[in-house]
Amino acid sequence: MQRVGDAPLQGCLRKMAIEPGTGVQAPARYSLRLGEHYLPLNERLGQPLSLTWTGAIACTHCGRATKKSFAQGYCYPCFKRLAQCDTCIMKPETCHYYQGTCREPEWGEKHCFQPHIVYLANSSGLKVGITRKTQMPTRWLDQGAIQALPILEVDTRQQSGFVEVLFKEAVSDRTNWRAMLKGEVVEMDLRAERDRLFSELSDGLRQLADIHGDSAIRKLDATPLQFDYPVETFPRKITSHNFDKQPQVEGVLQGIKGQYLMLDTGVINLRKFTGYEVAVN
Ligand SMILES: [Zn+2]
Repeated sequence: MQRVGDAPLQGCLRKMAIEPGTGVQAPARYSLRLGEHYLPLNERLGQPLSLTWTGAIACTHCGRATKKSFAQGYCYPCFKRLAQCDTCIMKPETCHYYQGTCREPEWGEKHCFQPHIVYLANSSGLKVGITRKTQMPTRWLDQGAIQALPILEVDTRQQSGFVEVLFKEAVSDRTNWRAMLKGEVVEMDLRAERDRLFSELSDGLRQLADIHGDSAIRKLDATPLQFDYPVETFPRKITSHNFDKQPQVEGVLQGIKGQYLMLDTGVINLRKFTGYEVAVN
C-alpha cells in the first residue's frame, strides 16, 4: 500500500524487510513494515522520523491483543503452544521430536527437518550461526553482518545445533550489537577462518560424522558474501529507545543496520517491538 499525502501510517510493527543492495558497495534496501504497509526507508535518511506507539500490541501469530509481548511478538498462549517459541528453536541440539514431545510435529517436519546451513559471519567480529537454507541472506542482514560465508550443510536443524555446539568451543555465536552499530567492524578473511576452524575442530567433526553418517554433514566451498548498510553517521555512544518507557521515538534518521534504526537521539531495535501498533510520520 502507498502512503497517502502526509497522513501517518499506522499498523503493527513487523520485522523490517531488507534486500541486499545490487552492485558493488550498494547498501541494503530497507522497508519499515506496519501491518500490510511497506514504507521504504532508505530515502528517509537524513530526515526526521517519528514513531509513536499507540499502547496496543497484537500477537504476530494469532492477531489477539496482548498486554505484553513474549519472544518478540507473541501472546502468552501462542508463546506456550507454538513449536517456533520452544527453547529447542534457540538450542536446536535439544530437539525432542523423537521423544514424541514436539509441540507441533507437522510444523517441525516442515521447518526443522530441512537442510540447514552452518555459517561464519562478521557482524561485530567472527561468529558462527545456523540458518535454514531458505533464510539466506535475510538472516545475515537481520544481524547487521558485513560478511558471511556458508561453511557446512546438514540435513536437519538438530544436526546444525550439534555442529554449532562444537564450533562454540572456538568461536562466539553472539553479536555484540553495540560494536555492530558503531560500525567499528574490521573485515576478515572468512575462508581462512573457516579453514583454521575446520582443522582445529577436525576431531569433533569426525565424531559427528561417525554418529550421523558421513554424508550428513557436508563441507561447502561457497563464495564469501559482503553486505553494506545505509548509514550516514555511525553513533559514537549508543543509547537505546524503548517504547515501553517512552512511547514516542523521534529523531533524524542517520542509518539502518540489522533490525536497528539509528536516530540522532538514539537507536531502536525494531525487532524487539514486533506486534506493537505504531504510527509513523
Ligand atoms: Zn497469539
